[in-house]
Amino acid sequence: MPMVIQIRKDWSGPVIVCDHCNRPIASADDGNLLWQEPEPGRPTPPAFTHKACFTAFECARPGFWYTADLDTAMVYLANNLRMTDAVRKRAEGKARLLATL
Ligand SMILES: [Zn+2]
Repeated sequence: MPMVIQIRKDWSGPVIVCDHCNRPIASADDGNLLWQEPEPGRPTPPAFTHKACFTAFECARPGFWYTADLDTAMVYLANNLRMTDAVRKRAEGKARLLATL
């Protein structure tokens, strides 16, 4: 369950949770996206960890884990979702509004 909706007094919204320690990853530069080699024709579910949790996560799970910095992975995902500058700018406004609800 790497993404959850978190509600706090001052903001709410989606957060990515570390699959090792189950705490939210508060900063994109403190996280990793991990995945194992997908079988042909089958997508593979991703995992997320804090940088400090990566080795423990990997040691607890067999197999080779590919990894990308979380900040890079978020840009990669945005590109795959065709987040143009116009779409991104409109979405940033909506996200600011939703975070206050
Ligand atoms: Zn962690």
